[in-house]
Amino acid sequence: MPMTDRQRCELTQLASRNNIGCMLDKPLAPLTTWSIGGPADVLLQPQSPDAIAAVVKWCGAEGVPWRVLGGGSNVLIPDEGVPGVVFHLPLGLGQVDWEVGRNEVWVAAGYLMPRLARQTAERGLRGLECVVGVPGTIGGGIVTNAGVPDGTLADVLVEVEALYPDGQRRTWPVAELGLGHRTSRFRAEQAVILGARLRLEPDDPDAVRARMTEHLVYRRATQPLNQHTAGSVFRRPAEGFPGQLLEAAGCKGLRHGDAVVSERHANWIENHGAATAADVLALIDEMRARVLAHSGVELELEVLVW
Ligand SMILES: Cc1cc2nc3c(=O)[nH]c(=O)nc-3n(C[C@H](O)[C@H](O)[C@H](O)COP(=O)(O)OP(=O)(O)OC[C@H]3O[C@@H](n4cnc5c(N)ncnc54)[C@H](O)[C@@H]3O)c2cc1C
Repeated sequence: MPMTDRQRCELTQLASRNNIGCMLDKPLAPLTTWSIGGPADVLLQPQSPDAIAAVVKWCGAEGVPWRVLGGGSNVLIPDEGVPGVVFHLPLGLGQVDWEVGRNEVWVAAGYLMPRLARQTAERGLRGLECVVGVPGTIGGGIVTNAGVPDGTLADVLVEVEALYPDGQRRTWPVAELGLGHRTSRFRAEQAVILGARLRLEPDDPDAVRARMTEHLVYRRATQPLNQHTAGSVFRRPAEGFPGQLLEAAGCKGLRHGDAVVSERHANWIENHGAATAADVLALIDEMRARVLAHSGVELELEVLVW
């Protein structure tokens, strides 16, 4: 249900008192890498956990739903938009605190992973090579345990702090994060990830930079980085790589409207201009059905559908 005029007015005032950037009926497509999705009733850009807590409390009392948007690089937002509040973190919650003596860093959820990765290289710390080409925030990265086949955030996370609908802030040690292949407890739990502590290993900055360059060169050669995409659409099943299963099932080049299965990588869907969320969902259904018919494998989504 859309928010009432009274709720919009109250929330605007609450945002102003808490120094939160606030936009009504804000189109979300430009905030996603797919460039797809309708508006949010209210988009908020909070600068602090306390500000988020104040809004979460108000939403709870008013029955207004809320969600979190990071870099928008792993999410499909419906064409009709989303009711309630969307917290947009990259412009607000972006502090980083280096504790270099212990090779640790505390980073707020809105900080972009490639930026953090490059900074660790400059400081002669290894461990984040795996996310140098992943265009999302630390918060979004934790939700899906972002990474590549030879490394993920799970390798460097020490603990994660999150805020829950009851207003409580909880800190989870890595063992309790439920991290697995492109998953974590936060895929099933409503919470705002506030930040994380990472532990890295000292290394020669040139060696770290060289490994990052290797990752980026490989990506440029194998992924459609010049298109609007959300990276891999499906998670890797036990039976093999989704790209190979999809290619074998004849999915490359399939299209619904302007949503097209990439010719470069069959597990990526490109938006060729005016693709809608409905186009992407129809294409996803067809890709799944083809793989099931061809190899008997049921693919699961990696992208999160709102
Ligand atoms: C070109 C390209 C390459 C990619 N390559 C990779 C890759 O190699 N490996 C990989 O793992 N992924 C890859 N991805 C996918 C994507 O970048 C990652 O999943 C990334 O971690 C998503 O982060 P985000 O901030 O963009 O999350 P968003 O897309 O903004 O959000 C994803 C989900 O997480 C939730 N969320 C985000 N932030 C928070 C928070 N602070 N608290 C609670 N929930 C939150 C959102 O509600 C949403 O449900 C790629 C994507 C693109 C476009």
